[in-house]
Amino acid sequence: MTISCSYEFFPPGNALGERRFWRTLGCLETLNPSFFSITYGALGSAQDNSVATIRNVLAESQVPVAAHLTFEGSTKEEIINVAAQLRDMGVDKIVALRGDDRDNAINARKRGDCYDNVAEFIAGLLEIHPFDISVACYPEVHPKARNAADDILALKSKVDAGANRVITQFFFDIDAMQRFQDRADAAGISVPVVPGILPVRDFTKMTQFAERCGTAVPKHLYERFSPAKDDPALAAHLAKSHAEEFIDSLNILGYEKFHIYTLNQPIELAQCAAGSRAAIPKAANA
Ligand SMILES: Cc1cc2nc3c(=O)[nH]c(=O)nc-3n(C[C@H](O)[C@H](O)[C@H](O)COP(=O)(O)OP(=O)(O)OC[C@H]3O[C@@H](n4cnc5c(N)ncnc54)[C@H](O)[C@@H]3O)c2cc1C
Repeated sequence: MTISCSYEFFPPGNALGERRFWRTLGCLETLNPSFFSITYGALGSAQDNSVATIRNVLAESQVPVAAHLTFEGSTKEEIINVAAQLRDMGVDKIVALRGDDRDNAINARKRGDCYDNVAEFIAGLLEIHPFDISVACYPEVHPKARNAADDILALKSKVDAGANRVITQFFFDIDAMQRFQDRADAAGISVPVVPGILPVRDFTKMTQFAERCGTAVPKHLYERFSPAKDDPALAAHLAKSHAEEFIDSLNILGYEKFHIYTLNQPIELAQCAAGSRAAIPKAANA
């Protein structure tokens, strides 16, 4: 089955990061991505930097750009002004998110009216432009959700508000993904579910992310990645081969669209037995 990928980047924070960002983006551009997405305030990056980065990508690349936007920490007026600025720059795709900025969320409420949930935020976005909207979902349940049923209700509300697709948090457990898909199907969520794939270049860092996100790291991954601890070339090879196998397994289940968390790392197009293959990160030391 055909595979198409979108690729997520975070705004680079310094000159070395800039070079890596543009090199990776340049490689990926040749693979006909469905879109590039640029995070908003994630991994410690400044929110202002996102808009500037998007402006540069729009100037340098023909690939459509999706802007992540988080409403938590901003008033309605502030975040909709950012969305209007993006619209005026030619951005048609938004990844609409809550974010995790609890401290600023309290301050924002002192400044003005704020969104309470992503569904309301989507409605606000669609009032200013017919954006194509993606939202986040969590095969292993968001760590702050009360339970899996509530998590799916929250997701359903985002889809009912107008989301065109749902992109998963990274995960490694295909059974958990299938259980999630069953819950989504039972709830009547009919938009595409796009698996989010994190190529594992730095196993230790990945386990730290995974703990924060509630992503289970299966024992077999510890075994698979432990020989690469002090060997960047092997780590790069394992990252690529694992991600390829994982995408293949999901492709066999019927998934054709994937969202790759590039972490701005370089990639290559992998060809293999499955036929059309996704672009998976290659080097660990760019
Ligand atoms: C594809 C993807 C892209 C992302 N991009 C960014 C980004 O660019 N910038 C960034 O800062 N973050 C990003 N995130 C992280 C995201 O902001 C967090 O996961 C956030 O905690 C939830 O955002 P949401 O949009 O899923 O919110 P929601 O849909 O509101 O939450 C998802 C679930 O968690 C529950 N929940 C969330 N927060 C709470 C709470 N405080 N109390 C109780 N329940 C809660 C909801 O009820 C729901 O069940 C991304 C995540 C994904 C999967």
